[in-house]
Amino acid sequence: MKYFIVTYGCQMNVHESEKIAGMLVDIGYDAASSYEEADVIVFNTCCIRDTAEKRAYGNIGALKSMKKADPDKTIVVVGCMTQQKGGAEALKKKFPFVDIILGTNSLDKLPVLLQEKRAKSRIAVNEDPTVDLSTELPIYRTSGTNAWINIMYGCNNFCTYCIVPYVRGRERSRAIADVIADVKQVLSEGYKEITLLGQNVDSYGNDLKDGTNFAGLLKEIAALDGKFRLRFMTSHPKDFNKEVVDVIAASSNICHNIHLPIQSGSNEILRRMNRKYTVEQYLEIIDYIKAKMPDVGITSDIMIGFPGETEEDFLLTCDLVKKVRFSNAFTFVYSPRKGTPAATMEQIPADVKKSRITRLVKLQNDITKELSDLYLGNVYEILIEDVNPKYPGTVCGRTDSGRLVTIDGDPSLIGSFVNVKITKSRSASLFGEISQGEKK
Ligand code: SF4
Repeated sequence: MKYFIVTYGCQMNVHESEKIAGMLVDIGYDAASSYEEADVIVFNTCCIRDTAEKRAYGNIGALKSMKKADPDKTIVVVGCMTQQKGGAEALKKKFPFVDIILGTNSLDKLPVLLQEKRAKSRIAVNEDPTVDLSTELPIYRTSGTNAWINIMYGCNNFCTYCIVPYVRGRERSRAIADVIADVKQVLSEGYKEITLLGQNVDSYGNDLKDGTNFAGLLKEIAALDGKFRLRFMTSHPKDFNKEVVDVIAASSNICHNIHLPIQSGSNEILRRMNRKYTVEQYLEIIDYIKAKMPDVGITSDIMIGFPGETEEDFLLTCDLVKKVRFSNAFTFVYSPRKGTPAATMEQIPADVKKSRITRLVKLQNDITKELSDLYLGNVYEILIEDVNPKYPGTVCGRTDSGRLVTIDGDPSLIGSFVNVKITKSRSASLFGEISQGEKK
C-alpha cells in the first residue's frame, strides 16, 4: 500500500506532513511518487491565503474522475482548511468523494480510520483546537539535512488579517525537556540542521510559568555537543528581544539569519493589523541585531493592500525597506480571510494593490541583488542540503546568513559543511566553488 501527500502552506504544515507520513509508514505504507500510484492521497491544506485555498480546492476537485475510476483509492483532507468554522462541512459538500476529513489536532485518528476500512465520509475535527494529539506522533522526516522540531503550538496574537489563532488555538509550549530530547535524538540520527518551529517562537515558555523562555531554550540547545546549525521560525517583533539577540550572537551554532515579519512600515496600518509594535520599536531591535551581528541576514514578510492602506502608508513601507535593507522579503498582497476582523473592513481596489506590489518587489529585488554582490570573492561555510535540480551536476546549501549557494558537486556532499568561495551572484542566489581559503 502506498501514500502520496500534497502539502500547502508553511513549515508547520511541512512538518505535520512528516507526522502523517510517520503514521502511515508505521502501519506499513510506502511513499508513492504520484496520485496514480497511491492508495491513499492526503491533502494537507492551508487557509492563510486565498491562493493556497484555491490551489487546494483545484487539486482536490481534479481527483474526482480518478476516484470514480478507482473507488478503492482513499482521499483524505487535513490541515487548516478543515479546522475553520464550518470548513469540514463545506469541504464535504463540495467534494462528496473525499473519504476522510481530519482537523489539525485529530491527525492521530488517521491510521484507525484507514485500518477499519470504514473510512467513507468520515469527518473528525475537534472544534476546540487546544489538544495537541499530534505532538507524540511518529515522524517520517523528509527534509534531508534539516529536522523540524515543534516547540509550541497556536498563537495568542489575533492579527486582524490572520486566521491562525482561530484554527490552531492559543499558545501551548512544549516542555523544555521534551524539546531537548527531540533535539538530542535528531542530532544522534545525524541531522546537521535543526529548525525550531512555532507560530510565535519568541513567546515560547510564557504559558509554562516556570521561568522558561525562548532565549533559555536557544542557549540550552546551542550548548549541546556536536557541529550543527540551529534556526527558528517564526518570530514576532513585539516579542523578539535583546536577550535572544545576545544568545544568538554569542553562539557559533545558532545561524545569524533572522526572519522578523514587519508587515507594514506605517504605524497606522500596524495598529489596524493589531501587530502591537511600532515602526520605531522595530527599527530599534533591527539596529541592535546589526550592531551585535554585522554579518546577519535579516528577512521579512511584507503585506501590501491591507484595508485602509493609503499611498502615503505604502511609501512609508518602502522607506522602511530602504532603511533595513532586508536580504530578502516575502512580499504578498492582502486577501481577506473569512472570519477575521480585516475581512469586514473596506478593501483596497485590486489595481492599486497590483501597482504597489510591483513597485515593492522591484525595490526589494534591487536591494537583494546589491547585498548578494557583497558576497562576491569571499569564502563562506555552507551546509550542503540537496542537489540543485535547476543545474544538473550541482548541489546547493545555505550560508549561515541564509543565502542559497550552488556549487558543482555530487550528492555525496549532502550533509557536509564545505567552505565555498562566491564567484557569481544572481538576485537572491549565489554560485561558488569549494575553496581552501579562510572563511569570512
Ligand atoms: S502572530 Fe499574527 S500573523 Fe502570526 S500566526 Fe499569530 S495572528 Fe497570525
